[in-house]
Amino acid sequence: MNSSLSGAYRGRFAPSPSGPLHFGSLVAALASFLDAKSKSGQWLVRIEDIDTPRIVKGASDLILKTLEAYGLHWDEKICFQSKQIDFYQAHLKTLLNDNQLYACQCTRKQIKALGGIYNNACRSINLSLENQAIRIKQNHPIDTFNDGIQGKVSVTKSFSAEDYILKRRDGLFAYQLVVVLDDINQNITHIVRGADLLEPTVRQISLFNEFNKKAPSFAHIPLAVAEPGFKLSKQNYAPAIDITKPQLALYDALRFLGQNPPLELLNLKVDKLIHWAVSNWDITSVPHVNEIQLIKDESNKHCQFFPLSQ
Ligand SMILES: [Zn+2]
Repeated sequence: MNSSLSGAYRGRFAPSPSGPLHFGSLVAALASFLDAKSKSGQWLVRIEDIDTPRIVKGASDLILKTLEAYGLHWDEKICFQSKQIDFYQAHLKTLLNDNQLYACQCTRKQIKALGGIYNNACRSINLSLENQAIRIKQNHPIDTFNDGIQGKVSVTKSFSAEDYILKRRDGLFAYQLVVVLDDINQNITHIVRGADLLEPTVRQISLFNEFNKKAPSFAHIPLAVAEPGFKLSKQNYAPAIDITKPQLALYDALRFLGQNPPLELLNLKVDKLIHWAVSNWDITSVPHVNEIQLIKDESNKHCQFFPLSQ
């Protein structure tokens, strides 16, 4: 291994333990793993277990067992967000001391009536932080970035200029804050994940800037959807992938990712299959679309894939 390359790339997969892995999450895990390993990088796993109401008992263990059965072996110690609360709170305090935060009393209904984008109204009224949502002053908005798969991504000026929430009224840290802090903490250099996170990426890049850190490179793979606009998720009961027969789902996931896998892969041991996938990984072959619709073909058990443009 070229030592100048080894260790330079650090990627990650960050599932939330709200249920077992389904095809959509497998595709994200596989793409981030293959991109890291094809560049002699490290691949880390982080369990996003602080959105407490959605956590399902036993799901983390099942996810980790499934990754192992699928030959997706991670490097380093697993990071559990639930053990990082003090770390998040300390960084929130830093922003507060820098006068970058304020409390907001506006309800979801009021913001919806404004057209869904917040007008930063509470910035000037200096409410107590107690029992309120906490927003960051968006003084360095970013409205465009270059994505490794989707190309140039742009959002509206009003979206990029919105003071967004870092801590919710119920006391939970917002996804934008914890994901950026975790990526900083784990020195992540490359993020490969689903296109449902395309738009919020501009906020994450601005938050990296806020913490004076270089933002990682981003590449967003198409989202697996049951119907246009409806991603496969634990919430819509996408079936768990089969832990006893990984070859079929891995083969389908490689097809989904445009990697053109040969049928012979179905007869290989999992580690051999993954070896093929690492050696042949070509990120430029991943379809440059936001969504791919899955239609189960009952006759031969494979899925058919229909790329959808936005
Ligand atoms: Zn407000």
